[in-house]
Amino acid sequence: MQTSYLRPTYVEIDQEAIYQNVHQEKERLPKDTALFAVVKADAYGHGLLPVARVCRKAGATGFCVATLDEALVLRDAQIVEPILVLGITSVQEAAIAASQNISLTVADEQWLVTATELLDQTPGLPPLAVHLAVDSGMGRIGFTEPDALLATAEFLQSHQAEFDFEGIFTHFATADQVDETYFKQQVAKFKAMVAILPERPHYVHVANSATSLWHTDLVSNLIRFGVAIYGLNPSGTALSEPYPLKPALSLYSELVYVKQIHAGDGVSYGATHIAKQDEWIGTLPIGYADGWLRRMSGMSVLINGQRCQIVGRVCMDQMMVLLPKELPVGTKVTLIGKDGDDEITMQEVADYAHTIHYEIACGLKNRIPRHYLPCRA
Ligand SMILES: *Cc1c(COP(=O)(O)O)cnc(C)c1O
Repeated sequence: MQTSYLRPTYVEIDQEAIYQNVHQEKERLPKDTALFAVVKADAYGHGLLPVARVCRKAGATGFCVATLDEALVLRDAQIVEPILVLGITSVQEAAIAASQNISLTVADEQWLVTATELLDQTPGLPPLAVHLAVDSGMGRIGFTEPDALLATAEFLQSHQAEFDFEGIFTHFATADQVDETYFKQQVAKFKAMVAILPERPHYVHVANSATSLWHTDLVSNLIRFGVAIYGLNPSGTALSEPYPLKPALSLYSELVYVKQIHAGDGVSYGATHIAKQDEWIGTLPIGYADGWLRRMSGMSVLINGQRCQIVGRVCMDQMMVLLPKELPVGTKVTLIGKDGDDEITMQEVADYAHTIHYEIACGLKNRIPRHYLPCRA
């Protein structure tokens, strides 16, 4: 949800790219496998509602979010498909989730015991759909002991007025790596946990993007398709894509001020850049308060198809670049995306910042306006 409209710095989202990334994956999947689009964190910075609508058009059958609030935004926008909250929700919110037909992740029996009391206080609610999380090695949330899982499944079976046991799932820690040793241990652990259930729920699911791209032979009838929607390779550069993913996000700005400086003149806080001779310096209206990290100093942007270095420290709302010559105010600048024959990818930005593209994408703040290119499909 953007909070700014009137600035020359903007994110452009190619909705057609999102459509293609989802559609191609859907085509590869067995017909009876559901694809839930993971649109948490404002769709990884791409904008929750526009992305959800394109994904639906491309064949997504449901959605995953991180929090109940994110799920409610989808419901308020008349998104009627199944929605699963992947994180732990406060048990106090169980009735809200049930009333809006939002599925919750549950990772211990006590949560259900408390929820039963709360749900019984509100007559007329539909059963709350729950997915039991199994921790097969991610070490984050979920059942690790078969006995506790079995007891919880039995609790659900005996409380069908309150709950609909809709799914069981796990999450892999290393699905994006070349070495499959740990991945295979997790698969074995999850299979053993599922095997002790007296009855399988409607959905059994294990796959994030990396798993669905590179491990297609798993017992599961739903994938949680996340970062690949946005055209980003979940492994960074470690594994190659089975089909070309198309990046959906570009980041643009423009020169708002251009000046010549002379030998000995400094640029930005700390005057870490000192001109050795005459230089043309351009100022861009973007900074670390927009999610363009301070450590991007020294990285390049594209202007007229040419790389220009960010000089001096990145400020909160502005930064400076070294120009090859005097350029007019209003000249377009590409921070992420294509310009001429050159391209700066989200991966390149992430590498420079010593992080992963996920963090760059969802770090781009709401005060950068989002512009949406139409999806003709
Ligand atoms: C975020 C998340 C996903 C999506 O992961 P990607 O790597 O973006 O595909 C899937 N499952 C769970 C449990 C998650 O938290």
